[in-house]
Amino acid sequence: MSKEPLKVLIIGSGPAGYTAAIYAARAGLKPVLLTGGEPGGQLTTTNDVENFPGYPDGVNGPQMMVDLQKQAERFGTEIHYKLVTAVDFSTYPFKLTVDGKEEIIAESVIIATGATAKYLGIPSEKTFTNKGVSACAVCDGYFYRGKQVAVVGAGDSAAEEATYLSKLCPKVHLIVRRDEMRASKIMQQRVLNTPNIEVHWNTETEEILGDDAGVRGVRVVNNKTGEKKELAIEGFFLAIGHKPNTDIFKGQIDMDETGYIIVKPGTTKTNIEGVYAVGDAADKVYRQAITAAGTGCMGALDAEKFLAAKEADAVH
Ligand code: NDP
Repeated sequence: MSKEPLKVLIIGSGPAGYTAAIYAARAGLKPVLLTGGEPGGQLTTTNDVENFPGYPDGVNGPQMMVDLQKQAERFGTEIHYKLVTAVDFSTYPFKLTVDGKEEIIAESVIIATGATAKYLGIPSEKTFTNKGVSACAVCDGYFYRGKQVAVVGAGDSAAEEATYLSKLCPKVHLIVRRDEMRASKIMQQRVLNTPNIEVHWNTETEEILGDDAGVRGVRVVNNKTGEKKELAIEGFFLAIGHKPNTDIFKGQIDMDETGYIIVKPGTTKTNIEGVYAVGDAADKVYRQAITAAGTGCMGALDAEKFLAAKEADAVH
């Protein structure tokens, strides 16, 4: 990689990162994009993406990421399969360490490191990933229409996902580990007032059951009585939270208490001028490929404006 200061460094290779790259490259900024440890991001764990506008027949998640990468490269984005391991935003231009050894310098940085869905940690959820287990009801719920499903979690995401699924599925089991939900009152009310959502209180997931065709049920246990039961379901949705992939930025830029990067509303600007945050790393509410792509575009435009102003200042 070049030892010269980069105009734009993009960290992350989901829809947010690639969209930022497409815009920055087309603006002549010669962006460099570092993919991180999971090239393509969360969409590579999804088979069919049917809600991204422009694909009337849907698109395979990994294929979509390959297409986005090609589009970014076509306009001159330099892509490296490397991981940023440390950043120093206290000096300008910014200093970043790649793969623990290589140092790079950048005039602007677009953070697009995404988030990772939390899993329960039981082996069967890995066995059935993409065969009945999903961490995104809005993405995958449609494939389970007319079928019985379960959602695990008790926060706003779980409430929202259970409500969403209740419109597609005849029965939604909501598995809650305590005797109350963390979700906001209004979201809880919505869940409790929906006749086809059954809440299983004080209940934990023991095993997801199924065969080669996919999920057929889930065995749950009541953590107060020890009583076990099997729920017949074909879709199992995790909604126990996400973790933004922002650990390397801790202490360098402003974040909320759960690690989401704080941006100035309506922009992608962080508290450090020249550093922008796009996609799920700065979004705990929408978390969609299309919203990530949208903010990726904004990030590139914000960076472009920043660099142009710097250049104009240098001339005067
Ligand atoms: P939260 O961290 O708020 O909630 C996670 C839920 O999962 C908790 O109820 C927790 O249970 C449960 N949980 C965690 N681990 C396990 C486990 N191993 N087994 C069973 N249950 C588990 O995450 P959300 O994704 O729901 O929300 C994140 C943030 O995003 C919140 O601030 C939320 O308000 C916001 N949000 C807002 C939305 C909106 O406004 N429309 C929509 C979605 C999210 P316990 O309560 O027992 O700890």
